[in-house]
Amino acid sequence: MDKEYILAIDEGTTTARAIIFDHSGKQVAIARHPIRQILPNPGWVEHEPNEIWNAVQTTIATALIDSGIKPKQIKAIGIASQRETTVVWDKKTGLPIYNAIVWQSRQTSKLANDLIEAGYKDEIHQKTGLIISPYFSATKIRWILDHVKGAQKRAENGELLFGTINTWLLWKLTDGDSFMTDCANASRTMLYNINTLKWDEELLKIFNIPKAMLPEVKSNAEVFGITKNYQFYGSEIPISGMTGSQQASLFGQMAFEPGMVKNTYGTGAFAVMNTGNKPAMSDNNLLTTIAYSVDGEIKYALEGSVFIAGAALQWLRDDMKLISNTPSTSLAAKKSTDLDEVYVVPAFAGLGAPYWDNQAHGTIFGITRGTSDNDIIKATLQAIAYQTKDIIETMSSDSRIPIEVLKVDGAASANDYLMQFQADILGISLQRSSELETTSLGVAFMAGLGVGYWKDLDDIKQNYQAGKVYQPEMSETKRLDLYGGWKNAVEATMDFKH
Ligand code: ADP
Repeated sequence: MDKEYILAIDEGTTTARAIIFDHSGKQVAIARHPIRQILPNPGWVEHEPNEIWNAVQTTIATALIDSGIKPKQIKAIGIASQRETTVVWDKKTGLPIYNAIVWQSRQTSKLANDLIEAGYKDEIHQKTGLIISPYFSATKIRWILDHVKGAQKRAENGELLFGTINTWLLWKLTDGDSFMTDCANASRTMLYNINTLKWDEELLKIFNIPKAMLPEVKSNAEVFGITKNYQFYGSEIPISGMTGSQQASLFGQMAFEPGMVKNTYGTGAFAVMNTGNKPAMSDNNLLTTIAYSVDGEIKYALEGSVFIAGAALQWLRDDMKLISNTPSTSLAAKKSTDLDEVYVVPAFAGLGAPYWDNQAHGTIFGITRGTSDNDIIKATLQAIAYQTKDIIETMSSDSRIPIEVLKVDGAASANDYLMQFQADILGISLQRSSELETTSLGVAFMAGLGVGYWKDLDDIKQNYQAGKVYQPEMSETKRLDLYGGWKNAVEATMDFKH
């Protein structure tokens, strides 16, 4: 018999990837395709849903062709996707009625503020584990239904469907047969009750969103549907794993035990901590979310996001033109000779946890006549690490569990300067996964579990391979001094409103 593999689709904010894994969890093929960012107004970010679908198809075809693996050798497919990003489409024609509104987009800031002012903060937090913000799907759906003529009526008539990207891709792969999501993605919509594990009727009423538009919610590892043969090169393959990107990487890092934390450094940075089988509610505005539901067991997580991580380096590259590519920042930072007195606070989309200031704009502090490009580059990398420290400290105090190791992954975790500075400023060791594509690996594991390709979590753990470890080297005095400077910079940023 031909060897069998798992295909993971990782549809991220800036790139779609398809990765094929073998039974030992080793990558045997990878293909990437960029996703175009549509920026219609300041602060707005949109994607074209059919372009995403095309990108995913391209990557699947490329991975199969390059590796010579036949479509029927794919035992199962897993879909991990950017979370919260909202698509509303016509059930009959399959055509989206508006662009996908991306998680980062701020076009629903007013809606979010109105909800806070109307006093819904505690109720929504209690039910969904989320802090009211334009990032989650609910206000985005409301916005589309308000801004596309006749949409509310059509939604009420059952003519429109809502999905995050995973649901959209499942629907396309099955040619409309499967309209489903998983509980981890559902927990990011602000419409799903993480205690009852159901769409919340009261929230649907508050947002005036018809239930008929919402997908059925499943666990993370079970059969969601079968590819239509003409959508998958002649083969009917089960899609048996599905989750959001960050939950996927927590799973890929094998953080199956309460207290385990991972941070993924991509466009944003996302720290997620497994807190066990009951939701842990944060006193400090961290999000409570579903980590995964596998084999009838549900695990919750605390999560903190740095909205602008790698995106700050893209800004250095594309707008400031200080660098030609983002990996070069590591060397540039090492060449910087200042005494770390420059602070960049990249609050391009407001500030996330633990500050949650939607209105903040970015700032740069501490420049002198002698400040060089390398100093600014270094300070931008350091900002990623400072923001991560803000979150890790908050997580530790909310969960009352000391964090001893931070598991790291994501494209920017390849940055040597950033990783060393991160270990230094946290004062704990960092463990980089040997497989940087943990999002794909995590959802591949789920898909494999869903069809019995791997038996259980213990079977998956056999595939763990340790990667590089970074030990803290900075003195305690310097760590406190630098971090104090960061806190001052953030405070001044929040004070600055024009
Ligand atoms: P996404 O968040 O869309 O899934 P990735 O995980 O691919 O994206 O991360 C892309 C981000 O990582 C980009 O912002 C890019 O600037 C950054 N990045 C990639 N490689 C490096 C590197 N070696 N050093 C620093 N940043 C990097």
